[in-house]
Amino acid sequence: MQFIDLAAQYQHLKSKIDQRIQAVLNHGQYIMGPEVTELEAQLADYVGVKHAITCANGTDALTLALMALNIGKGDAVLVPTFTFFASAETVAFANATPVFVDSDPNTFNICPVDLEKRIQAVQAKGRLTLKAIMAVDLFGLPANYPAIQEIADKYDLKIIADSAQGFGGEINGQRAGSFGDIASTSFFPAKTLGCYGDGGAVFTNNDHYAELIKSYRVHGKGQDKYDNVRIGVNSRLDTIQAAILLEKLAAFPQELKNRNALADFYQKYLSERFNTPLVPTGYVSSWAQYTLVAENRDHHMAKLKEKGVPSMVYYGTCMHQQTAFKDLGYKQGDFPVAEQLAKTVFSLPMHPYMDEEQRMKVTKAANS
Ligand SMILES: *Cc1c(COP(=O)(O)O)cnc(C)c1O
Repeated sequence: MQFIDLAAQYQHLKSKIDQRIQAVLNHGQYIMGPEVTELEAQLADYVGVKHAITCANGTDALTLALMALNIGKGDAVLVPTFTFFASAETVAFANATPVFVDSDPNTFNICPVDLEKRIQAVQAKGRLTLKAIMAVDLFGLPANYPAIQEIADKYDLKIIADSAQGFGGEINGQRAGSFGDIASTSFFPAKTLGCYGDGGAVFTNNDHYAELIKSYRVHGKGQDKYDNVRIGVNSRLDTIQAAILLEKLAAFPQELKNRNALADFYQKYLSERFNTPLVPTGYVSSWAQYTLVAENRDHHMAKLKEKGVPSMVYYGTCMHQQTAFKDLGYKQGDFPVAEQLAKTVFSLPMHPYMDEEQRMKVTKAANS
């Protein structure tokens, strides 16, 4: 059994994807070909934003968002400590300072109460300029944007929504990627909408940010790429990846249903023994991961492995515990909820093409 079965998905969509790739090989516009424009229009439509701008990966998408918001040296960006490294890395890469925030114990997402405390602590010190909150839709569940937006308004901060795992999620019918000032996603193969290599996108309703991001992604271009009006990067989505994503996006609504059906199945058969994930009222998760919490995690994972069921730990190290961030001066105990999560979480196989037999095998193994 695979943790995420990408080969099963390809078998399902093979003829359509093969045709799309062949069409690109035939027309030969490998960079910024027509499929890129077509995909951007469809992504904007699906997410419900004015602009979707594709780029080379989800990490670049965050960097482009930080560039558009003019975040740099002396600026502070609030980031959950329990996330994938790229969320905090891009802030530091922009020469700004990530200020870590503890997690909500029920949703695993950034805790609005701790967020406000950390904002006030930065204000009290008066050393950094508070610029933005980077919220993360961890494991597919959208962050608590209504609460985060209130705090952002109160302290005059921008919101960057890292929806690398959240694509397909919703709050009261509003889709992930449309929250905050600028949102991002990743098309890394294992994400909910993945391509066959690296890819990413930035979403915004703001025309000015969109124009800046389109320029930054091609060497700070003005009229064309040989007219350079600012320092940018080279971060485009390959046309072949866009072609693949067009077919994957067409299949995505059904896949999202399948993921939710699998999550319901897990919930039904595992909730007696485990704390199964909470999806607050009005929220839809895209189930990038199905994550359980157990004191004796290693024991459970060993049992699963014995029975041929793969499981993974996302994430065993918080950002404030990372060697790369040791100079920020955080210590053990600064983020009790996130530290406890890092010690106790483990994730079960989750993908849209798991059959009945595989589902039963996972729940039986987990309950044994
Ligand atoms: C995967 C991921 C990223 C980075 O995406 P890449 O395409 O791998 O660069 C950023 N943030 C989060 C939360 C992620 O899960």
